[in-house]
Amino acid sequence: MQNFLRILSYVMRHRRLVAMSVMCAVGVSLFWTLNLSIVFPVVKVLFQNGSLHEYVDVEIAGLEGVIQEHSTNLENIPARDLRQRARTQSRIGEASSTLLWLTRIQTWVLPWVPRDKFDTMASLLALLLVATVIKGIFIFFQDILVGSVVQLTVNAIRQDCFRAALKLDCQSLGRIGTPTLMARMTNDVEQMTLAIRLFGVTLVREPLKAAACTAAAFYVNWRLALLSVTMVPLLGLVFNYFGRRLRRASHRTMESMAKIYECMGETFGAARIVMAFSGFRKHRRQFFRANREYYDGSMKVVRLGALSRPVSEIMGVVGVFAALAPGAYLVLRETTSIWGIRLASAPMSIAELATLYALLAGTLDPMRKLSNVFEGIKRGLAGSDRVFALIDQKSIVPEPRSPRMMIPHQASISMKNINFRYAGDPDASGARPLALRNASLEVNFGEVVAVVGGNGSGKSTLLSLLPRFIDPTEGHVLIDGVDIRELRTRDLRSQIGLVTQETMLFNDTICANILYGNPQATRQMVMDAARKAQAAEFIEQLPEGYDTPVGDRGGKLSGGQRQRIALARAIIRNPSILILDEATSAVDSRSEDVIHSVLKDFVVGRTVFIITHSLSAAFLDLVTRIVVMDQGCVIADGSCEEIRKSPEFSRLLQGEMSPVRAA
Ligand code: ADP
Ligand code: MG
Repeated sequence: MQNFLRILSYVMRHRRLVAMSVMCAVGVSLFWTLNLSIVFPVVKVLFQNGSLHEYVDVEIAGLEGVIQEHSTNLENIPARDLRQRARTQSRIGEASSTLLWLTRIQTWVLPWVPRDKFDTMASLLALLLVATVIKGIFIFFQDILVGSVVQLTVNAIRQDCFRAALKLDCQSLGRIGTPTLMARMTNDVEQMTLAIRLFGVTLVREPLKAAACTAAAFYVNWRLALLSVTMVPLLGLVFNYFGRRLRRASHRTMESMAKIYECMGETFGAARIVMAFSGFRKHRRQFFRANREYYDGSMKVVRLGALSRPVSEIMGVVGVFAALAPGAYLVLRETTSIWGIRLASAPMSIAELATLYALLAGTLDPMRKLSNVFEGIKRGLAGSDRVFALIDQKSIVPEPRSPRMMIPHQASISMKNINFRYAGDPDASGARPLALRNASLEVNFGEVVAVVGGNGSGKSTLLSLLPRFIDPTEGHVLIDGVDIRELRTRDLRSQIGLVTQETMLFNDTICANILYGNPQATRQMVMDAARKAQAAEFIEQLPEGYDTPVGDRGGKLSGGQRQRIALARAIIRNPSILILDEATSAVDSRSEDVIHSVLKDFVVGRTVFIITHSLSAAFLDLVTRIVVMDQGCVIADGSCEEIRKSPEFSRLLQGEMSPVRAA
């Protein structure tokens, strides 16, 4: 319900379109009812052998007689018998109001109606045609209006979804996973689209049609119409039952759709590995299982839908019968009451009964359509649960309420007694071990710090603190004495250049990829950065130079080339803090030497952190400080000379560091 109101708040941004579409729906329902009411004159003309003129004349005469009779009766009823008087008066009232309508028809409509029976019939058919055409026009415009509202709404929701996902922190994003995000923004949103469309078109139009027909049926004979309406609460109960089960089943299908996305992403994202290790069977089985789950869930939805339609239809028919059977009794026995209960004010004619039937059947058709939309709406609501859950998810790296001004880093970076624990899976029991344990580090501006240590010792985690990819569980990170949690993440990150092991390039040109580091830069600056990164040479040899597309994830370039472009991207940003996380691990030793020589000039006037496994002489020349990590702790920290003598470092060199090219 809450989500429903939220969708409504999106929809209501387009109030005018909505209002117009509702007006169209009102038009549709009026003409729908008009079409059905034409049954009355048609039956009159065809079966009761009289033109409308005669019918109206006879009726008026009859009614006048009735009123006359009751009025005389009224005079004879003693003043004390209030009940009898009231009853008689109400009959006079009923007859008078019908009389009023008939005289109106006599003066306004009848002059236009031909007296010949066939001509009357023909004009009725023409009227039917015109009414249908007008109804069609209304339907057309309603569909278009609703369609545009739906698309606008869904676009807004999808945008909010994307925005919300971008605001999330790295950990939450990692936990949700790209395939699930994709499933949310495509499949789940699509389900919502269908639901909102059904809502706007069917759920507005059909109840209006049903209401107009019911109102007309009440006008024809309210007592009988009331009998059939008694079915409505029962119908509500049935809908409620199916609805709850449908929603649950839809949730499950959407989850399995997310699994399908996940399976596809994993298989084709690592296509090379899959092929090299011939992992087809495993992936195929995984996919089949997810697909099968989706099938099972969908079939459940289908079964529920299939069951709900006939059930609601049968109940509708029962409702119509509840009115029709007594109605037929009244007509055929020419009476006005059954078992002493008065069901009509005057004996009913066949035409009246036929009209009542048409109108009640006219209520039934919208009901049938409604039971169809029901399934879609429930699915959409299930989709909206998931989409809004994503939109509402809060980042665990919150922005400060009143951020401090960031001045360019120029003094120091310090990490004080940092403990950090990765958030565990919500359903896994027990917390994860600490990834950082009482880690402290003081670095002055301009230092070049090598962070070394075994796999999983917490190096990447430590440096993830700086751009606030994660926040410490305990402890503080200060830049120039300011806690970085008091800075706007955007400002903070504008000072940081990052190059990681798996270089992420975007599917765009080389120039655009370098510009990503500083969108305001000119093309000349791009070329300078490329030159500094020693990438200019190979770029210029490419046929399209800087405008060469790099392919998906930079797949058209070699690892070393990609890495140099990533370096150029960091260089053009001109960061005061540079972080290289195993930037050279994936490239050949020549590229590595190139990168080190690039860094030699670039590190000047910046604070630089380099996580690496290879300590070549050229590299050690660059470095002013070495930090050794083990199991989340900083176990040694000092200048190259100091560290090289320390036992921790020797152990590391013998053990985990590779390749050892130490001087
Ligand atoms: P490395 O020194 O190799 O860069 P990391 O900092 O990546 O080590 O990892 C430190 C520890 O934290 C490891 O034990 C690893 O299992 C754990 N870890 C790293 N990233 C995550 C993550 N996203 N979620 C949970 N645990 C993680
Ligand atoms: Mg790492």
